[in-house]
Amino acid sequence: MTPRFRRWLADGLRLNRRRPPEFSIRRVAAWPEEPLPQVLYRLGDAECEWAAGMQCPCGCGAFIQLSLVEDSSPSWRIEQMRSGEFTLMPSVWRTVGCRSHFIIYRSRIFWCPPGDAEGPG
Ligand SMILES: [Zn+2]
Repeated sequence: MTPRFRRWLADGLRLNRRRPPEFSIRRVAAWPEEPLPQVLYRLGDAECEWAAGMQCPCGCGAFIQLSLVEDSSPSWRIEQMRSGEFTLMPSVWRTVGCRSHFIIYRSRIFWCPPGDAEGPG
């Protein structure tokens, strides 16, 4: 994560502080048939989680699946805080459909600036 991106997130968080966290997190053994919006599902068990999934936050109806397997590429990781808030890193950038580009930071969604080809890194 670049310092510039960190600053951008910090600014965004200040603006968003009054809003309650938007996402909750839930461990599942299989993808739900009707996934709820604003829930990040972690697929796996206590020993190992290998994927995360969520309804695309733009509302397009797509279900996004992300690998949590460290040595796969790309892969994501979830950092959970004691408060229950969580951060999903790096950003999610859909290359098909709605092309949404966002990050979940402290359980809040941040839309990445359009045209930021570098990505938050
Ligand atoms: Zn979408």
